[in-house]
Amino acid sequence: KLHNQVQELKGNIRVFCRVRPTLPSATEEELPAKIDFPDSIEDAKEVAIQGPEQKSALGKVTTSTHNFSFDRVFGPNSENAAVFEEISQLVQSALDGYNVCIFCYGQTGSGKTFTMTSPDGMIPRAVSQIYASAQALEEKGWRYCMAGSFVEVYNEDLNDLLGEPGELDRKKIEIRHDTDKKRTELKGAESVVLDSADRVHELLARASKNRSVAATKANERSSRSHSVFILKLIGENSITGETSTGTLNLVDLAGSERLAHSQATGDRLKETQNINKSLSCLGDVIGALGQGGGGHVPYRNSKLTYLLQYSLSGQSKTLMFVMISPLQAHLSETLTSLKFATKVH
Ligand code: ADP
Ligand code: MG
Repeated sequence: KLHNQVQELKGNIRVFCRVRPTLPSATEEELPAKIDFPDSIEDAKEVAIQGPEQKSALGKVTTSTHNFSFDRVFGPNSENAAVFEEISQLVQSALDGYNVCIFCYGQTGSGKTFTMTSPDGMIPRAVSQIYASAQALEEKGWRYCMAGSFVEVYNEDLNDLLGEPGELDRKKIEIRHDTDKKRTELKGAESVVLDSADRVHELLARASKNRSVAATKANERSSRSHSVFILKLIGENSITGETSTGTLNLVDLAGSERLAHSQATGDRLKETQNINKSLSCLGDVIGALGQGGGGHVPYRNSKLTYLLQYSLSGQSKTLMFVMISPLQAHLSETLTSLKFATKVH
């Protein structure tokens, strides 16, 4: 109850933080950073990071601790099942006609794909749950149609991850907004009817194959683009005559790391600029929505926010996961990510 009240005060925007574990493959140089979170408490909301050492002119070494608080903090021992439990109500509300957006934000290697798009992640879990709930609702007269699309925003172009392999960069998708009904059509994007919960695995495999075909060695595609899984849920009740239209958008964002300018030239520089622009634009949009009050929301400033416009406004609920690495070497990116997430909170 209390949780719902807090949520409403915040205009339906929540932020969760997840720290990934140190991987078994970590080398000795990959020292863990000093990150504290009350992991023993089931309901952790704080994370404290000890910043890098600073030496004064007199040689005195100091460090400062940075504290952040979110709606929920998951430590490195948390499992996807437990993380999903915390979002299952949010996912469920798409069946009730809400538009839901869940984002994973963080530097490359921080656990975005593990959390969202992997075979054990939030996408297949969400589809299974919705499928099971829709079946249970049949008793009450509800019939749902579930259709999934999977698209990618790369260099401010929208591509179909479910298209033919090798066509990823050739077939562009057009966004058509129906301003009266506040609905979005994606012209040129395949939409797969999910008539069994397992079909989502075929869909994820197809998308992953498409991306690997498009990748070159120097350019790991998935960390340079945003992937958006879109589940449309249209329901009709044969007893009461009610209808419901909801959308669940699950977004695995491009890596948020800042590239050293000297490193980036040509295509790579353009990519980096597009990623920076779209991530900061997403922050601006969520920040503006969080303020409420009906002020101007700059949806049109990037392809991603334009695509998600109707899922971020109106009858909508938004959750941002900020993913962080546990390593000392990533400390400065970690602090940058947490500051970004605090700004949208
Ligand atoms: P990103 O998508 O942010 O670049 P990944 O999800 O690919 O990062 O994660 C990087 C590596 O860390 C992968 O090998 C992944 O399996 C592993 N990993 C990430 N999060 C976890 C976790 N919570 N538990 C175990 N392994 C994880
Ligand atoms: Mg990834």
